[in-house]
Amino acid sequence: MISDNVAQLLSELPQGVQLVAAAKGRHPEEVLEAVEAGITVVGENYVREAREAYQLVGSRARWHFIGTLQKHTVRRNVLQIFDMIETVDSFAIASEIDRKCALIGKTMPVLIEVNSGREAQKSGVLPEDVEPLIRQTVDLGNVRVMGLMTMGPYSADREDSRPFFAETRRIYDMIKSLYLPNVEMRYLSMGMTDSYRVAVEEGANIVRIGTGIFGERN
Ligand SMILES: *Cc1c(COP(=O)(O)O)cnc(C)c1O
Repeated sequence: MISDNVAQLLSELPQGVQLVAAAKGRHPEEVLEAVEAGITVVGENYVREAREAYQLVGSRARWHFIGTLQKHTVRRNVLQIFDMIETVDSFAIASEIDRKCALIGKTMPVLIEVNSGREAQKSGVLPEDVEPLIRQTVDLGNVRVMGLMTMGPYSADREDSRPFFAETRRIYDMIKSLYLPNVEMRYLSMGMTDSYRVAVEEGANIVRIGTGIFGERN
C-alpha cells in the first residue's frame, strides 16, 4: 500500500516538485518501504525517530528536519543526519546551527518557516519578519538560506489554504529579487496530504506528505 501511494504521487506530481515523505510516528521499516518505492527525501519531526529510521535507511534517502526546533535539540549528531532544516524561525536557532555546523565542517541548507496564518501558537516568523531575519543570516558562513516553508492554518477545506500559500510565494519571489549574498531562493515547501495540489498550483516545489503515503496515523 505504501509503495502504491508513492507510485501514484510520483506519477501525479509535476516535474521539479520534490516529494518529502513526512515520517512522524512511522516505523523505520515503513520509511524503508517508502524509500524503496521511490521516495528520495524523508521529513522527520523528531530527532529520536530520525535516528532510528536513519540507522535502517541511511544514505539511501536525504533527510529533512521538519519539526519544531529548540536550541538544545541542535546537536552535532542531529546536524550530521540532516541534509536540510526546513523550520528555522529565529536568528538564535540559525546561529546555533551555524556554530555547531562550523565544528563539523558542514554548511547546512535551511528554509525559513513562515507563520503565514499569523497564528499565535504556531511556529514560524511573521511575513513581515522574513526579510529582516534572512538579512541577519547572510553573514553566517555555515548556514545557507535556500527558501521558505509554511504550514498554513489547518482547515477542513483545502481551498482555505490558498491565500496563505500565495502570500508565502509572494514573499519568496520578493526575497529572490533582492539577490542577497549567501542566499539562494530555490525551494518553496508548502502543502501536505490535504493541500498539496493547491500548494503546487501556488508555486510549491517541495510538498510534505505523511498520511497520503503511510495511511492514517494511530
Ligand atoms: C505531519 C507533517 C506533514 C504531513 O502531514 P499529512 O497531513 O500527514 O500529510 C507535513 N509537514 C509537517 C511539518 C508535518 O509535521
